Amino acid sequence: MIVLELNASNGGMVVRIFDAHCDVLYQLFCDQHLSFERSTSLHVTYDGLKQAGVTVQAFAIYIPKQVRPESRFFVALEMVDYFYEKIVSQPNMKMVRSKREIDQLQPNEVGAMLTLEGCEAIGESLIQLRTLLRLGVRSVGLTWNDANMVADGALEQRGGGLTKFGKDVVHLLNEQQCWTDVSHLSERAFWDVIELAHYPIASHSNAYTVCPHPRNLRDDQIQALIKKNGVIGVTFVPQFLRHDVQKTTVTDVLRHIDHICSLGGENHIGFGSDFDGIFETVEQLGNVAHYTHFIDELLKHFKEEQVKKFLFCNFYERIPQ
Ligand SMILES: [Zn+2]
Repeated sequence: MIVLELNASNGGMVVRIFDAHCDVLYQLFCDQHLSFERSTSLHVTYDGLKQAGVTVQAFAIYIPKQVRPESRFFVALEMVDYFYEKIVSQPNMKMVRSKREIDQLQPNEVGAMLTLEGCEAIGESLIQLRTLLRLGVRSVGLTWNDANMVADGALEQRGGGLTKFGKDVVHLLNEQQCWTDVSHLSERAFWDVIELAHYPIASHSNAYTVCPHPRNLRDDQIQALIKKNGVIGVTFVPQFLRHDVQKTTVTDVLRHIDHICSLGGENHIGFGSDFDGIFETVEQLGNVAHYTHFIDELLKHFKEEQVKKFLFCNFYERIPQ
């Protein structure tokens, strides 16, 4: 259910927000002195989340390429530790793993969901995956841009699909009622996941027809996700929004939303900003606090009911448990 609240600061309506991807944990890993509370070098901060009135922010564990294979799982655990010690330790920030836990949030509380971006962290071990799920991970991206033991990523020349181990991973995610995240996957691996996954989403990907980038989804992929009752998290990565060198604006984001809607995706659009995973940002959408302005822009182009679905309901309603 969506609760509209009167925002005292501007007298307008505030819509609940679900953001399916950010890389704050990676930034905290790179610089342990960064303050999640209000660092000016972070896109997503505690203050920013409060200012925008975000209801749920997903925090991804991402293992940087330079980490040696034998250290990757430990680095993942380090990021889980940051999630517990620096994110959900803030007053009014609560870890959320299910719809029920989101429903239990008080109006002044922000939910934090732990996710995994790329299975590099687990090598070829279901035990390590199960451990991360037990620690609270609720959505698993199978690859980053390269190949790993699970599948090939979007920029891997070979373009392979799911490995045998990758299929075991998807089965485990089905069994544990977790999202399987197709963002960053090769096309072939995408179609393998569509075959197998019960709960597929794309946490941060745009429409290839609007901006032909290998990280974006082609129309048939978007339609397949819709058919599988998945959600496409439209992302604010400038290179995935337009392919020329023009500055990216909110209008570019709207073009992707329009296109996905034209494919029948009104009930399957969400947002996955990729804040703190990007260097350049969309004009007037430079950090999480700017969601307030973004909502105003969305309300100029879409009905309130649609805006509420894009910003919150579509992801929320498809949480498997
Ligand atoms: Zn990413």
